[in-house]
Amino acid sequence: MWKCSVCNYVHNGEEAPHKCPKCGADQEKFNQLTGESLEKVEISRFSNSLLKELILQMEQLQELAEAGIEDDLDPGCVKLYKEALESAKFLKQTALAEIEIHVSRGKWG
Ligand SMILES: [Zn+2]
Repeated sequence: MWKCSVCNYVHNGEEAPHKCPKCGADQEKFNQLTGESLEKVEISRFSNSLLKELILQMEQLQELAEAGIEDDLDPGCVKLYKEALESAKFLKQTALAEIEIHVSRGKWG
């Protein structure tokens, strides 16, 4: 794996790309990732995949909550689903923000 020293783009391959597809930097700006830094990339990919899974789950919860609100069985249920909806939205936004932070720090998604 190769990492662009300008924008932190990570390229999988034997050789660095001629130009960075993200920022257009030359091949010489790429550093090969080995050992510890390679491990860090793998770890943050796993962390980000967990966050992405969380986002998917929250989207499902959001759908379920919206269906529950529409069902409108009684005020108690509607209240529960509204709370579930708010929590799902909040957790989803928070997870998205976390991914953004990781990407901006060069921890890969
Ligand atoms: Zn770049």
